[in-house]
Amino acid sequence: MGKAVGSKKEIVIVGGSYAGVLAAKTIFKKVDEKNIHVTLISPNAYIYFNVAAPRLVIRPSETERTLFSIKDILNGYSNSSTSFIQGEVISTKLEEKKLIVKTGQKNKWIDIKYQYLIIASGTNLGNDVIQNKFEGKELVSLIHRFNKEIHKAKSIIILGGGPTGVEIAGELGYEFGQCKNISLLTGKELPLTIMGEKKARIADSKLKNLNVKVTNAVKYKEIQKLSNGESQVLLEDGGVIKADLVINTTICNPNTRFLDEGFLDSKGYLKTDACFTLEDYPEVIGLGDVLSIGGRSLIDLYHYQLPIFEKYIEKNYMGKSWVRLSPYESPRQTMIIPISKSGGVGTLFGWGVPNIMVRFLKGRDYLIGQAKRLFY
Ligand SMILES: Cc1cc2nc3c(=O)[nH]c(=O)nc-3n(C[C@H](O)[C@H](O)[C@H](O)COP(=O)(O)OP(=O)(O)OC[C@H]3O[C@@H](n4cnc5c(N)ncnc54)[C@H](O)[C@@H]3O)c2cc1C
Repeated sequence: MGKAVGSKKEIVIVGGSYAGVLAAKTIFKKVDEKNIHVTLISPNAYIYFNVAAPRLVIRPSETERTLFSIKDILNGYSNSSTSFIQGEVISTKLEEKKLIVKTGQKNKWIDIKYQYLIIASGTNLGNDVIQNKFEGKELVSLIHRFNKEIHKAKSIIILGGGPTGVEIAGELGYEFGQCKNISLLTGKELPLTIMGEKKARIADSKLKNLNVKVTNAVKYKEIQKLSNGESQVLLEDGGVIKADLVINTTICNPNTRFLDEGFLDSKGYLKTDACFTLEDYPEVIGLGDVLSIGGRSLIDLYHYQLPIFEKYIEKNYMGKSWVRLSPYESPRQTMIIPISKSGGVGTLFGWGVPNIMVRFLKGRDYLIGQAKRLFY
């Protein structure tokens, strides 16, 4: 494999979660550290393996094993050719190849110049338990506190019948289905409609078997906190449901406020060509959930986006002008959704996966044992 030639190229990555960190890992796997310098910018000092979040809310003692210091990870790739800036990109001047970054507690603003830019700023899920919003390891105590709230609650409503909502409902049903009222409001005709009707029906009955009350075909309008500590959920059909605890998994907004609207699709995701680069800015590439195209999953990032990025690295960072970039094509669905540790539903490259495989592949430990290997 050839190495980059010429002076050190300055590559800046926005975002310190899966896409940002795996981009850095991929770069150092291919390019000699003496030819590049990589700066990663993220508001969080720790990357959170949030794939395991549905299990952590009932097993909070595992949380430490899902948090990894970004600085340590980068130093492991290269001591001298990486920098970590704890901060948030506030705006971009792509024509000047410049970012404006807010850093530290004094809200200091700095300019960061780049030759190549990777936008891996993902999405905001509006839920502090399933996404790391903290500067340090505060997430550990938050998840312990959240677990206490779960234990205290007699009734819990989960909003959203997508993968996260179903996984959380499965965990809570398995653990507390006999002694608490656990409800899932899917907002669709069934839970997991994304997996097709057959799997959706299986998911629906698995949840019911765990004593989760599944309500389909009605969306929520508003969540209100009551003075007695309870919450009430107002439904679009005029109904009202009350619970001691509401877990909302329905929010998902792209983190792209630092970009001009012209670079974004109608929902705010990053518009790129099929090789993830920005129109008129070949030195800017997007990766991960922020992309308008893309499967918005770790599987998609790892198996389908990073191979395209590897070609991009060869062509751009290593100067192999003859390398042809391969366009992204939507892969067949791969989705493994545990509904408790006893199994769940899944597809692998479009093929159905039996219950036992779901248990084996993810349900047993929610991949916590493999998290470290992913980043280091
Ligand atoms: C509970 C749960 C379970 C999941 N399970 C699976 C699974 O089993 N399999 C699977 O394939 N996928 C799974 N996913 C999906 C997977 O987690 C996402 O695809 C993945 O998080 C996307 O990573 P990302 O780095 O693109 O974005 P994100 O994880 O959203 O990270 C974005 C990063 O950018 C930072 N950032 C945002 N704005 C700025 C800014 N202005 N400046 C600097 N930094 C910024 C954020 O702080 C964050 O560090 C799951 C998701 C959830 C929520």
